[in-house]
Amino acid sequence: MITLKNIVKVYKTGDLELKALDGVNLTVKEGEFVTIMGPSGSGKSTMMNILGCLDTASSGDFILDDLNINQASEDELAEIRNRKIGFVFQSFNLLSRTTALENVELPMLYNGVNARERRAKALNALTGVGLSERIHHKPNELSGGQQQRVAIARSLVNNPVIIMADEPTGNLDSKSSVEIMSVFQQLNTMGITIILVTHEPDIAQHSNRIIHFKDGLIDRDEMVEDRSMAE
Ligand code: ADP
Ligand code: ADP
Repeated sequence: MITLKNIVKVYKTGDLELKALDGVNLTVKEGEFVTIMGPSGSGKSTMMNILGCLDTASSGDFILDDLNINQASEDELAEIRNRKIGFVFQSFNLLSRTTALENVELPMLYNGVNARERRAKALNALTGVGLSERIHHKPNELSGGQQQRVAIARSLVNNPVIIMADEPTGNLDSKSSVEIMSVFQQLNTMGITIILVTHEPDIAQHSNRIIHFKDGLIDRDEMVEDRSMAE
């Protein structure tokens, strides 16, 4: 599903060059649930931006679902993101004045899906994350964990093959964090590949594989033997 070969990312600021990724090699198979860990500045965000087709590498090969991303133009990247990738963020990024249902419908509006189908798919996604009772609530009427469920439902409606989640439990208490991880586990069981950044070792234990970054390289890549299943 994902192959990275010798991925280098250099940021140029004036005369300064900073190598954020220093030749990363990585394969992620369809249906894996991967967490990325590592100290601040180790290249996690840079890696996520490249994997999420938000930014391109300075050099190296990136194959995603048989597409060669190196050669992709800005428009092609946007198209690939739209068709294949769902994004979940630490701060939920919901529109505050609109209901849960409308937030989830929004990505389909941009894709020209008709109103009836938007409603049906949004309801289905919200039911899937356990929020069917809260669809007419606005974000400030929902708990953090519920808001993140709305965001996850929103990430699903264009049928992504991958979900990229950047610190999705960073603003949640530990109980809600475990609940959100069990939502990701459930989606993963349905076949969606998940790539998630976290600072919390306990959270990483809910995935299948933990990749540790250090100084722009993969320092350790370990399988989780007995991933904890949330109640
Ligand atoms: P992490 O997410 O692990 O904290 P980052 O990928 O954000 O690491 O950063 C890796 C390195 O690249 C850091 O030294 C950071 O300061 C630098 N960096 C990240 N983004 C940029 C950018 N847009 N411009 C310049 N330097 C950047
Ligand atoms: P995180 O908490 O995810 O590691 P950072 O604080 O490293 O995020 O970076 C936040 C944003 O700022 C990212 O989009 C990153 O690309 C950008 N950034 C990080 N370091 C620099 C830098 N030295 N110069 C410019 N942008 C940077």
